[in-house]
Amino acid sequence: MYIDAHNHLDFYEDRLSTAIDIIRKNSILTLACAMDEQSYLSAKMLSNDNPLIIPCFGVHPSKARECGENWDKYEEYLIESRVIGEIGLDFHWIEDRQQYPAQIELLEFFLGMAKKHGKVTNLHTKGAEQEILALLKKHSVKPPIIHWYSGPFDIMKELLDYGCYFTVGVDLGYSQLTAELVQSLPLDRLLTETDGPTALEWVNGQYGYPDYVKTIVQGISILKNLPEDDVQARIYENFEAILK
Ligand SMILES: [Zn+2]
Repeated sequence: MYIDAHNHLDFYEDRLSTAIDIIRKNSILTLACAMDEQSYLSAKMLSNDNPLIIPCFGVHPSKARECGENWDKYEEYLIESRVIGEIGLDFHWIEDRQQYPAQIELLEFFLGMAKKHGKVTNLHTKGAEQEILALLKKHSVKPPIIHWYSGPFDIMKELLDYGCYFTVGVDLGYSQLTAELVQSLPLDRLLTETDGPTALEWVNGQYGYPDYVKTIVQGISILKNLPEDDVQARIYENFEAILK
């Protein structure tokens, strides 16, 4: 069993059935992260006849302003989600600072819900790593999954101390920072992710399918100097531990 701890199945559009076949054939247990309510509902539908797909409700920070303020209806989605995400903050790609207060308010709502219902979160932290760390502590939520971390090393260490798990994504082999993260993080805190088809496209121009997690496992095994099977098994164990 492989783990894709952060994917966006709605991004595959007309290639979705190919992606689902790949998930099935390679036994890739997949967290289908939502960008918003609509993408959650479609992920939930896909999970009906596919136990490898775990739908997760969240609203991406880039959608914080447009999702309105009627958040009460979200609670039922959060109760039924095994993991809450994608949620978080983006102070890097989103340059319009006027959006930041709305992002923070929405994230605090989700963290409050995560605490209330004992859920693990799947967090986007781009350019806001310090703020995320402070909010995790403020809400004392369960140790989350940090998706595609690219922030400062000292904050990474603090997140590690908090108990966070870190996904290793499609830029492994292309990013010096990601290689350094893999080398310094303990194996029992690592997960693999693809982040949908467009993440790999952003890295090297290739359309990314879920079986790219195998390439990531291979990359981790080289950096950690461990057999691929061991890395694959450990990542599965980490994922099981999170969902307990
Ligand atoms: Zn994502």
